[in-house]
Amino acid sequence: MGKADFLSPKAISNRIKSKGLQKLRWYCQMCQKQCRDENGFKCHCMSESHQRQLLLASENPTKFMDYFSDEFKSDFLELLRRRFGTKRVHNNIVYNEYISHREHVHMNSTQWETLTDFTKWLGRKGLCKVDETPKGWYIQYVDRDPETIRRQEEQARKKKQELDDEERSAKFIQEQVRRGMDGKEAEVSSDRPKPDWMNRTKAAEFILPSSVSPAGPARLHRTQT
Ligand SMILES: [Zn+2]
Repeated sequence: MGKADFLSPKAISNRIKSKGLQKLRWYCQMCQKQCRDENGFKCHCMSESHQRQLLLASENPTKFMDYFSDEFKSDFLELLRRRFGTKRVHNNIVYNEYISHREHVHMNSTQWETLTDFTKWLGRKGLCKVDETPKGWYIQYVDRDPETIRRQEEQARKKKQELDDEERSAKFIQEQVRRGMDGKEAEVSSDRPKPDWMNRTKAAEFILPSSVSPAGPARLHRTQT
């Protein structure tokens, strides 16, 4: 690899990425301490502060279990959200991906005995929609991010606005059609049912002059007869 290649943005970004991975690798969960490399991690594990923390953990296992449970839950949900969005997915698929990360919190240090326990808990807390099938449990992330909720509301509002507009223009077209019909009433025999092209769904068949206004002359052209 030439010097130019070595300094290319891609190469630099790759180095940063690989560093990033390494960063997570030598992390002491209990002390929340990041070590630089394997050697640093070994040194940390023999350090007084780590040993003290170990002692604390053994004296107060609940506190640490709470901590690990919280980490497990957060990481699991973050993975689910990032990889699958709000799609329904088998809990095992997410779990297998989760444990493939080296630095993952092990389930045996959490409050949950099994993945099923955890899944049911997610459902009870309303963090996920969960359902049991003969093939096992499925989960679906529930997005409670205020920004997402705001966006969804905005979309619903726009959709409603569009429907209202559509309805208004359909009414307008119907009105134009009615006016146009008034002049041709004689041509339509009375026993014919209401022509279906008057329905709003067929409105697209008409070409309205762009300058048409309710006050203007009702000029309409049918494209097909
Ligand atoms: Zn430690």
